[in-house]
Amino acid sequence: MFENLSERLSGVFDRLTKQGALSDEDVKTALREVRVALLEADVSLPVARDFVKAVQEKATGQAVTKSVTPGQQVVKIVHDTLIDVLRGEGEPGALKIDNPPAPILMVGLQGSGKTTTTAKLAKRLKDRDGKRVLMASLDVYRPAAQHQLEVLGKQIGVDTLPIVPGQKPADIAKRAKQQATMGGYDVYMLDTAGRLHIDEVLMDEVQIVRDIATPREILLVVDGLTGQDAVNVAEEFDSKIGITGVVLTRMDGDGRGGAALSMRAVTGKPIKYVGLGEKMDALETFEPERIAGRILG
Ligand code: GDP
Repeated sequence: MFENLSERLSGVFDRLTKQGALSDEDVKTALREVRVALLEADVSLPVARDFVKAVQEKATGQAVTKSVTPGQQVVKIVHDTLIDVLRGEGEPGALKIDNPPAPILMVGLQGSGKTTTTAKLAKRLKDRDGKRVLMASLDVYRPAAQHQLEVLGKQIGVDTLPIVPGQKPADIAKRAKQQATMGGYDVYMLDTAGRLHIDEVLMDEVQIVRDIATPREILLVVDGLTGQDAVNVAEEFDSKIGITGVVLTRMDGDGRGGAALSMRAVTGKPIKYVGLGEKMDALETFEPERIAGRILG
């Protein structure tokens, strides 16, 4: 489908003859190709521009190693720079969940995969870390949403907060906190309602819930296939709510992963996990190397 970056660059360098060091001219020509490759991988324009500038600074005047071609050398610099930008601080996927019961707030737009991700993450915390987890759905707008979480909970063996019809999200959050404390849970997860678009009502509601729960983690769930939209969503949620990390879903699809780079560059927040399918085990910690390989093609 796409010519990959290595192929593009070897084409560029085949036309150039050079000895010793990469010249400004060589680097410039190569970086035009890098920029096109990033844009094709759905990286936003300003992010692609900044990225290319960073690569240019690293590459200009760098001695050409004998064992690799200039094309391969630029690919390596691009690859290493990508990983630098993508990598968050600390352990991949690490969550601040000491001090039980630790609240985790899940936020995002409707259809992003929020409820599925809540259950996947709860299962992971239970299976891998031996945590006792309580999940609660705060989506009072779609009656099916609370049941959906309950059904998933039964399937994965994680408790859900009993459904009380007519309660507001704030009341459910308070009840979850109380039950998690009294029941000796390590973690409680609040799955907030999503909407099709960001609006003030949604943000106000999430802010209220956030202030009640004082979460240790606020994870934004975004559809990794939505490219630039995903970045706008992340920016908006981060400025209004203050997120601690991102989960990119649908990374099993054929998206090129550019949203990951844009999101890291724009929000500065770590991508903690990626969703790789509909099954309850299809959640993995974010690996910058894998996404870098995908972006470069
Ligand atoms: P919510 O409205 O944000 O809570 O979204 P849901 O959790 O209900 O998910 C919407 C749909 O996306 C469901 O059919 C999920 O099975 C599906 N889904 C969620 N995460 C993934 C993923 O990582 N990969 C794929 N292929 N599908 C996913």
